[in-house]
Amino acid sequence: MAFWPSVVVATPAHSGVGASLTYRSELPLAPGTLVRVPLGAREVLGVVWECPTTPPEGLTEAQTKTVTGMLQGLPPLNERWRQLVKFAAQYYQRSLGEVALAALPPQLRDLSNVQLARRLTRRSKIGVDEHIPAGDVADGHDLSDEQQQALDALAPAAAPVLLFGATGSGKTEVYLQATQRALAEHADAQVLVMVPEINLTPQLEARFRERFEPLRGAGAVVCLHSGMTPAQRLSSWLAAHTGQARIVLGTRMAVLASLPGLRLIVVDEEHDPSYKSQEGARYSARDLAVYRGKVETEALAAGERCQVVLGSATPSLESWHAADQGRYLRLAMPARIGGGALPRLRLVDMNHQPKGAVLAPPLIAAMAERIGRGEQCLVLLNRRGYAPVLACHDCGWKSQCAHCSAFRVFHKLDRTLRCHHCGFTERVPRACPDCGNLDIAPVGRGTEQVEEQLAGLLADVKRPDGGPARVARMDADSTRLKGSLEVQLATMHSGEVDVLVGTQMIAKGHDFRRITLVASINADSGLFASDYRAPERLFALLMQAAGRAGRDAAQSAASEMWVQTWYPQHPLFASLKQHDFPAFATTQLAERLSAGMPPYGHQALLRADARTQQAAQAYLNAAAHAAVGLPHFEDVTLYPAVPLTIQRVANVERAQLLVEATSRGALQRFLAAWQPVLLESRSLPEARGLIRFAVDVDPLVI
Ligand code: ADP
Ligand code: ZN
Ligand code: ZN
Repeated sequence: MAFWPSVVVATPAHSGVGASLTYRSELPLAPGTLVRVPLGAREVLGVVWECPTTPPEGLTEAQTKTVTGMLQGLPPLNERWRQLVKFAAQYYQRSLGEVALAALPPQLRDLSNVQLARRLTRRSKIGVDEHIPAGDVADGHDLSDEQQQALDALAPAAAPVLLFGATGSGKTEVYLQATQRALAEHADAQVLVMVPEINLTPQLEARFRERFEPLRGAGAVVCLHSGMTPAQRLSSWLAAHTGQARIVLGTRMAVLASLPGLRLIVVDEEHDPSYKSQEGARYSARDLAVYRGKVETEALAAGERCQVVLGSATPSLESWHAADQGRYLRLAMPARIGGGALPRLRLVDMNHQPKGAVLAPPLIAAMAERIGRGEQCLVLLNRRGYAPVLACHDCGWKSQCAHCSAFRVFHKLDRTLRCHHCGFTERVPRACPDCGNLDIAPVGRGTEQVEEQLAGLLADVKRPDGGPARVARMDADSTRLKGSLEVQLATMHSGEVDVLVGTQMIAKGHDFRRITLVASINADSGLFASDYRAPERLFALLMQAAGRAGRDAAQSAASEMWVQTWYPQHPLFASLKQHDFPAFATTQLAERLSAGMPPYGHQALLRADARTQQAAQAYLNAAAHAAVGLPHFEDVTLYPAVPLTIQRVANVERAQLLVEATSRGALQRFLAAWQPVLLESRSLPEARGLIRFAVDVDPLVI
């Protein structure tokens, strides 16, 4: 007897290969089984989707290749996982195989069964040998009343929970205790905790390990993120898949991990844009988490559920709106632990500062005072490097990237011009390449320059121990080397550094205890950006940054958030001053409603990369033209193709076309009908020079 399994393999949506391929097997293979199959001249990893005993109509034995073998010792991927993958592929307009295979650790492809068996035993040894029997547990803090109320309300909640907790309100402790409860209730329970960027929050990982390893053994907590080596990723994935890992801490990719015992999903800082993937299947891990919770719950006994908790001090407007509508349960924790106050907002009107000042004199004076008292300051700006551009004032030459429609940033430390889009790096020229002028100068400011200026301005300021004030910088450049981020965070925690200058990575999640002043020195770009989400992002960033100040209640009364701005009257600052996210959200949502923007309208982007801008746009417009008459064409609006803000990167021209609809269902059905048209349109004469296209559903940036 023969079987005819349909197997999904890694085929991009654009290859035109169907959802799955049919093979032959002598043995029945359960759906979800991992197999190796021949594909062309290669042998690839695949997932069995179905395994009928009769071949699909029209297919003969001679036309069908045989499954090479299965990955032994691995239980099949369960039905809920397959449902999640199928949903993600459909919703984000990708192929099943692309999503399924991207969710598996890459090393799984290359291992022989012998190697795999070795990995599996290695893992189970960790679990057994170092297991410490349940006994006294580090119980964590006694919860505050607000934390207790939130935890109590979580338990019976049937809907996803939006935990709206101020910075420093102790959300992490709620996650920890909810995790503890989930693990205690079911012997095989697993918990998924997602964070935007794991490396930025080593404290969170430490707290989970500290709390659960003594209770559940050394292998109980694993991480899953793209910064891990392939071997580490495989090891974590196997631990999750076999149920040995009880807690998976990860970034957005973790939402697709195989977790057979999943009972709780936490999405911390749920508003963070990094939950939306910007390549391949452009999924939102937050939205998939909500879907996954629903699928898992449906498979459980009545009354049991897999709970989803979305936490933030500044929720996304999508989640806020869902809570307004009652689709999510909103639980608020407005107070900081220990009763500390949120910092007072000080707006510095740049119209009244000395001409050309990058840092206002009153801000410098306030920082000097703090340093003198042994307190710390954070200075936030949005650009790394020394200056955004190097320019010749004689002929107008600028440090344009040869491959992108962007300027290369001047990095003074290693005297390079570096493109932040394509990476193209060159030594700074001695003279203007166009006219030979020796006097080429930096324009605008980056973190390096602000660090340098602050060090100069604070040169005479003394710390309480009599030493000079110390300024440090933290951004993608200073943390590039492995381990350097940890070292820099440590110097901040130990108090070695008085002022930390950096990009938004310094505003996220850190529990620094001695910061009493946070300054944002060039926030204005977020006020007037053409992107309609810019105010939401700016508000979240400033609230997050403010949340770094005054975390020690004793110092919180005097803590301050300084914002330098040319527009102090802007309404965004009025809400910020009151720390009033609900008021801000209400005005933003009213604007979105009147403009038909998300969450009231639904969007997708069709993006095209091509050799020329003309080809990119021509392809998009041709695809739009060919959409006339498709199902639900009447329900969507297709806009003309436009170039991206940075239209050329690494010599590739980029354009996009916006699709809008008032109904999510109509948009989904239209996109599904459009997909084959998009494939066909590639061969139109207008599209010559097209490199690739991609659909981005629910795009974050348009
Ligand atoms: P959030 O994530 O909401 O910003 P954290 O979870 O980081 O806040 O908590 C802020 C600080 O308060 C942490 O140092 C944490 O250890 C402490 N903390 C949390 N809950 C309690 C509690 N119930 N009692 C005492 N300290 C607590
Ligand atoms: Zn010149
Ligand atoms: Zn470039």
